[in-house]
Amino acid sequence: MVQKRRGNLYNPESKIPFNISRSKIDLFWECPRCFYLDRRLGVSRPDMPGWALNSAVDTLLKNEFDLLRQAGQSHELMKKYNIDAIPFNHAELGTWRDDNHRYIGASVLHRPTNLNICGIVDDIWIDKKTDELYIVDYKATSTNSEISLEDEYKQGYKRQMEIYQWIFRQLGFKVSNRGYFLFANAGKNRPQFDAKLEFTTSIIPYDGNDAWVGSAIVELKKCLDAPKIPNPSPTCKYCGYRELVRQEELAERAKVA
Ligand code: SF4
Repeated sequence: MVQKRRGNLYNPESKIPFNISRSKIDLFWECPRCFYLDRRLGVSRPDMPGWALNSAVDTLLKNEFDLLRQAGQSHELMKKYNIDAIPFNHAELGTWRDDNHRYIGASVLHRPTNLNICGIVDDIWIDKKTDELYIVDYKATSTNSEISLEDEYKQGYKRQMEIYQWIFRQLGFKVSNRGYFLFANAGKNRPQFDAKLEFTTSIIPYDGNDAWVGSAIVELKKCLDAPKIPNPSPTCKYCGYRELVRQEELAERAKVA
C-alpha cells in the first residue's frame, strides 16, 4: 500500500543537518517536484522490487576484491586494463560501503546548506605510484550489445561517480578524476541454463568532473526551503498522465453530483 512517510522529512526550521543521499541528488536532477514531494512532504515514488541478482554479484565482487585488499595485491582485471593500483585498505571502508546496512555510507557536511551529503560506494582503489584514489562502481548486466556509458540512462552512472568523487574530496582524500565501472555481464548464448550464469567482466574508465555538485546542492537546498511544490518536469510523462486522470475523475464526480 502506498502511504505518506511521516519520518525523515526536511524541516526548514531545524538546525540539525539533514541527510541527502546520492540517489536523492539524482532525483532532484531528474525532477525537483518529485524530490520535493519525497523529502519535504513524505510522498515517495512507489518502491521498486530489490535487484537480488545484482546484489549477489556486488557481494561476490566485494569478497573477491577484499581478499586482494588484505594481501595488498592487484586483481588480474586491473592488470589486464593496465591499472597500476590495488584495492584501497582503510578502517572506514566498511562504513563507506555500508557493510552494516545503515544506509548512509560515506558522508560529509556541506556547511553552506547544512546538508549532510552521503553515498554508498562499491569499492575504492589506490594508485600504486601517485596514491590517488579511484572510485569504483560494480555493475551487473546481461546484454549481447557492446557495453558503453553512452546510453541515456547511463548518464546517471556518471553523475553517481562524480558525486562520490566530490564526497571523497570533501573528506580530504586525493581523488583522481578517473573512476572505473566494473561490469559483470551474464551471457545469454548458452544452449541451456544448467543452473548457472556465466559472466564476463570488463572495466570501463570514466573521467568525471564534479564541478556541478556544489552548485546542485545549493539549488537543491533552495528547492527544499521553498514554500510550494515545484512545477512538473516538462520531459516527464507521468504528471501529465496524473493530471488527465484527475480531470477525468473530477468530470466523473460532477456527473454523479
Ligand atoms: S513530472 Fe514526473 S518526475 Fe516530476 S513529479 Fe511529476 S511524476 Fe514525478
